Amino acid sequence: MQRFDFVVIGGGIFGCYAALHLAGKGAKVALVEKEKRLFQKASLVNQARLHSGYHYPRSIATAALSDEHKERFTAEHRQFVNFSFDKYYAIDRFGSFTDPQQFERFCAYLDIRCERVPEHNFFNFNRLEALYRTEEFSFDPVLLREFYREKVETTPGISVFRDTIVHAAAASGKDWTLELQSPSAPPPPQTIKPSPPQPSTSKPPSSSTLPTPLPMP
Ligand SMILES: Cc1cc2nc3c(=O)[nH]c(=O)nc-3n(C[C@H](O)[C@H](O)[C@H](O)COP(=O)(O)OP(=O)(O)OC[C@H]3O[C@@H](n4cnc5c(N)ncnc54)[C@H](O)[C@@H]3O)c2cc1C
Repeated sequence: MQRFDFVVIGGGIFGCYAALHLAGKGAKVALVEKEKRLFQKASLVNQARLHSGYHYPRSIATAALSDEHKERFTAEHRQFVNFSFDKYYAIDRFGSFTDPQQFERFCAYLDIRCERVPEHNFFNFNRLEALYRTEEFSFDPVLLREFYREKVETTPGISVFRDTIVHAAAASGKDWTLELQSPSAPPPPQTIKPSPPQPSTSKPPSSSTLPTPLPMP
């Protein structure tokens, strides 16, 4: 049996980050990922937006936290961030839960850039209530994936278990014992015993239940 100080389940950005953080403090870490490669799920397939808060006009707390933590993410991942494009937020004329006044008040409260754009070739203003130029950048999830894969592989103290899921976990005092399984391993052979044909117990339908014959032409 192998022993570790910590087991991190899931090799997306959070799992990789946690494993690196713990290993950086001298811990022996197991990183368990059910896919054959790290960074295959939400950390790769997302909208690549380095949130500055705009996406959460109905949750000031979430928006403020996004804006606050953006600085730290940017500082640690600057080489994967694209700072050179304009980002627009549009408010739909039909069915939006936010109207322009609310959005502008919200941006002013958070102190994030929000300039109203009266027209733009890319947008259909028959559908839009308002359009805003904002300041929100984008990260490259593929570069992030390469960075974290390499870093996790080469950092001493981290053992990566790919193609592995935690099948069961049991605690005993402060210790945990985990049972691991490979999702892609072939299923264990099954014993199939053919049963002999049984005599039929169903009775033939009585004449009253027989379908009425169609009249002959
Ligand atoms: C459609 C979409 C768009 C998004 N857009 C953005 C965006 O623009 N900007 C932004 O900042 N955030 C965005 N997010 C959120 C962001 O992608 C997630 O917050 C982030 O990727 C979560 O990282 P994670 O490591 O927790 O998850 P994941 O990357 O999903 O990693 C979890 C890992 O756990 C593994 N796993 C699951 N169960 C087990 C198990 N039992 N055993 C072993 N391994 C297991 C999975 O295979 C997976 O690799 C978006 C999310 C979605 C879904």
